[in-house]
Amino acid sequence: MSAERVSAAVINAPEHQLRALVQALLTGDDHNLRNRVLDTFTTIQNTNTNDRKAELGDDSRATDGTPADVQNCRRCNTSFLLSENFGQECRYHPGELEFDGASETWQEWEYSEMDMDTMESREDFPEGFKFACCGGDGTAEGCKLGDHISRKKA
Ligand SMILES: [Zn+2]
Ligand SMILES: [Zn+2]
Repeated sequence: MSAERVSAAVINAPEHQLRALVQALLTGDDHNLRNRVLDTFTTIQNTNTNDRKAELGDDSRATDGTPADVQNCRRCNTSFLLSENFGQECRYHPGELEFDGASETWQEWEYSEMDMDTMESREDFPEGFKFACCGGDGTAEGCKLGDHISRKKA
């Protein structure tokens, strides 16, 4: 076998054969060879440790404790996994939320529609608004199903 073919065979050898090989080198009579094997092994170990440290550092920076896969839907405001976003699990209303002047919510109010139709009242009195798509009030569950839409730009 040529030297190239031997090195190829060594690289592709199963682990137990490589162990036997290293053991043979370490227990052999050639002390120079033995020291070179030990030196090489120490170098490899140090390199691997540094690689792993760098990887861990990168991970903690990149993910901030949350897997990058987790996204927040800007339509239904729930968290979902990007890799599993094909189940049409997003419930939403395609229509606008509109002020519902006929709603009981506003009967006691003596303000104009402008005063009642505010971002605040939309949060505090969702029953006083209705969706243009289905006529459900602000608390109604989404009338359409679709895939979640990520808040982050793709
Ligand atoms: Zn709707
Ligand atoms: Zn969604």
